[in-house]
Amino acid sequence: MKYAKNILETIGNTPLVKLNRLTADLPCMVLAKYETFNPGNSVKDRMALQMIEDAEEKGLLKPGGTIVEGTSGNTGMGLAMAATVKGYKLICVISDKQSKEKIDILKAMGSEVYVCPTDVSPEDPRSYYSTAKRLAKEIQGAWYANQYDNLSNTKAHFSSTGPEIWEQTDGKITHFVSGVGTGGTISGVGSYLKSKNPDIKIWGIDTYGSVFKKYHETGIFDKNEIYPYITEGIGEDILPKNVNFEIIDGFTKVTDKDAAVYTQRLAREEAMFLGNSAGAAIKGVLQLKEHFTKDDVVVVLFHDHGSRYVGKMFNDEWMREKGFIDES
Ligand code: PMP
Repeated sequence: MKYAKNILETIGNTPLVKLNRLTADLPCMVLAKYETFNPGNSVKDRMALQMIEDAEEKGLLKPGGTIVEGTSGNTGMGLAMAATVKGYKLICVISDKQSKEKIDILKAMGSEVYVCPTDVSPEDPRSYYSTAKRLAKEIQGAWYANQYDNLSNTKAHFSSTGPEIWEQTDGKITHFVSGVGTGGTISGVGSYLKSKNPDIKIWGIDTYGSVFKKYHETGIFDKNEIYPYITEGIGEDILPKNVNFEIIDGFTKVTDKDAAVYTQRLAREEAMFLGNSAGAAIKGVLQLKEHFTKDDVVVVLFHDHGSRYVGKMFNDEWMREKGFIDES
């Protein structure tokens, strides 16, 4: 018989899928690393398990303990699966801009969920960063996973996602493009790929309202770059330790409208039902057109599934309300 001993064993080994229509104007081949095939429907399953296993090994997480995390939903899903299989309690602290679906899914998976305001500074005691830290201190036997600064996040992608992409492309990959939030995906995959071939270019997708692009280009952490935005999962108002700026060759920023419109287009033109950051990522690839030539093999990573956005980017009323539909 061929079976996985538990759901965690099915994490990873996701397919690479060619894009055919949206990328028709590009000179190169574009392949999507399709992370929704993970059991929690996102790339984050990989790092959630890695963070827990490393914490167990270091003695930070003891049998029956409580995991606390600030999460936009996908990491929470990964943590929830691992917590259930391994017998831990999970508390997720989430910001109120995240979709209701994400919150409901976390609850369905047995997590306790705290919702915090988005539009406060990270240092504000009401922010989800501060609330997660406080709960981890207050609760006995609690461990704060901290996906932003916990380098097990990058390690997961260095040891699994990166090698998978290298092997799936027979080492022919020339560019890797990924949205950047905690930075774990781009830093882990990017440093693995550069260790195999330093000529591979690593491009980050950022949002308007986030600090990454300006910081990468100037070394300046510019607070003027920070303002509320709609795109989910990417961009930050902090510099997480998991963003390794040295291995990133450049960033391109995608607008909220383009990210939303291209999330819809991926579904309608490529039959790829994906989350909002996938729309940003593919629009980012199109913006980088001048960097690609005929023989290039571009891999773009799609982080999560469309089901979490049915009330938003896949809802025309919501799209209209945000001004994302051109009535003409
Ligand atoms: N897209 C989505 C939907 C996400 O949840 C995340 C994680 N915040 C990202 C992109 C960015 O990935 P990373 O945190 O590894 O930079």
